[in-house]
Amino acid sequence: MSDAVFRLSDPKFQVFASLKETVLAEFFVGVDVGGTTVKFALAQDDGRIFHESVIETDSHEGPDDVINRIGNHVSKIVSDAGGNASAVGMGLPGLVDVYQGVSRYLPNMTTHWKDVPVAEKLSPRVGCPVRLLNDVRMATYGELVYGHGRSSATMVFLAIGTGIGGGIVIDGKLRLGPLGAAGELGHQTIDPTGPMCGCGNHGCLETLASGTALAAEGIRLMLMGLAPNLHDAVDGDPALVTAEMMGSVADRDEPVRDAILKAASDVAIGISNVITAIHPELVVIGGGVAKLGELLLGRIREDVRARVGRLFPTDDIRIEASQLGSRAGVMGAIALASRGLPS
Ligand SMILES: [Zn+2]
Repeated sequence: MSDAVFRLSDPKFQVFASLKETVLAEFFVGVDVGGTTVKFALAQDDGRIFHESVIETDSHEGPDDVINRIGNHVSKIVSDAGGNASAVGMGLPGLVDVYQGVSRYLPNMTTHWKDVPVAEKLSPRVGCPVRLLNDVRMATYGELVYGHGRSSATMVFLAIGTGIGGGIVIDGKLRLGPLGAAGELGHQTIDPTGPMCGCGNHGCLETLASGTALAAEGIRLMLMGLAPNLHDAVDGDPALVTAEMMGSVADRDEPVRDAILKAASDVAIGISNVITAIHPELVVIGGGVAKLGELLLGRIREDVRARVGRLFPTDDIRIEASQLGSRAGVMGAIALASRGLPS
């Protein structure tokens, strides 16, 4: 593993290099903890990645076990690389006290990791400082430092996946707020009479346009006989319906296409609200649902222009898919490790 050379399909992105061929000043570990998997990267501050790997989260084992396994894996990849890590940056899916290094509430993790001193537990295991951040704020940081954000000072990031997370960059600085919770764009109310959200509110953007909400609508359409191509694609199994799968049949099942466009319109309401507040130059859409591509982005751009185009010259506000894609999180973790929290 030590001198493994990884190649990326996306030539825009960093070139992987062999550690043995490189004189390293410093390198950093990025860890992106999700409900299902934990992603790791070993990289330099300039964004060159030397190693990437993934392990299962298995959050049912509890935080101590997950933190232990993360510690073991970080130690292994650093030791295989034949060096020392200067710092670890780590994203967690939920509310994190970034200044104390403590998880406050992770809704998708078994036991919810309430008040777990994650940095204090992990740091001695890996022999260097550990810095925490919410996973989507971290992906925003990644996009800011290594992706589209390099050309924009004021940027909104929206990650549409199982839920919807967000992050806001103003004048080149990631906005954290007192807890690191600023930018929870998925929990802005879009429909006050809408479905109940995991946060306790009703009609949050997340309840209407997340991958989970889209898949639920896809299942409903399929079971009502309105999506025959979706039915064929998943062999009638509701458990296999995903937003991405819906995208693949959208040109044949009109109700499925309409469901995706409705979600895009709801996202556009959320984005328009943020535009009126901070007038960004750039809005970046990440997360698995961003793979729906132009079907999603085209409707978002159209609706945003219709909603706020008379207030702002929206031709100057770019709305783009994430440049880093599924790597935005780990690359943000590298930025967090090497540069620390935005101050
Ligand atoms: Zn909510």
